[in-house]
Amino acid sequence: MKITSAEFVVSAVGPKQYPTDGLPEIALVGRSNVGKSSLLNKMMNRKGLARTSSKPGKTQTLNYFRVNNMLYFVDFPGYGYAKVAKSLKQQWGKMIENYLKQRQELRFVIQLVDIRHAPSKDDVAMYDWCKEIGIPTVVVATKGDKIARGRWLQHTKVIREQLQLRGDDALIVFSSETGQGRDELWGEIVRRLRQ
Ligand code: GDP
Repeated sequence: MKITSAEFVVSAVGPKQYPTDGLPEIALVGRSNVGKSSLLNKMMNRKGLARTSSKPGKTQTLNYFRVNNMLYFVDFPGYGYAKVAKSLKQQWGKMIENYLKQRQELRFVIQLVDIRHAPSKDDVAMYDWCKEIGIPTVVVATKGDKIARGRWLQHTKVIREQLQLRGDDALIVFSSETGQGRDELWGEIVRRLRQ
């Protein structure tokens, strides 16, 4: 994908701040440190636009990025940082639950998991929650460069099994270091937005 424009629009703390131009929205979710900011920057070809390693536990905002006047990436707060086990819904609060359930512009979710590890309980809960609400998911296995290519299949198999990937939900191996998976993910995005 050729990026002609990519800009940060707003850190929304509630629906009043969501854009009103009706462009399709793609939400990005994953555990803190999974590589979400790095992936966003890679997808948008903009180093540092999505800040990496924003401190978890701070204000829960939805960060909107408009790309090519075609779509918004909506960066969700990272989950899984709470010391005491809390449910996803408790970590995130009502605003985010309402966004997932009610936002008309939301087309699908990109869920990030680290290729090296089996999905966590939170990852499984997140995936199941999206299925419950009826939101399609594209799963991205991040940090692909951290394991040998010959082991990708073995690792993605575990991810598929743990999440119990459904229907035509896709799984793409990605690396922000090498750009692996970038074209494939853009291809998947464009295909789904055309549907
Ligand atoms: P976030 O908390 O999910 O936004 O994660 P970040 O994008 O800040 O990444 C967390 C850490 O993982 C940083 O040190 C990144 O440099 C590193 N990282 C992210 N993506 C990759 C990747 O594809 N390959 C490698 N080797 N490191 C990565």
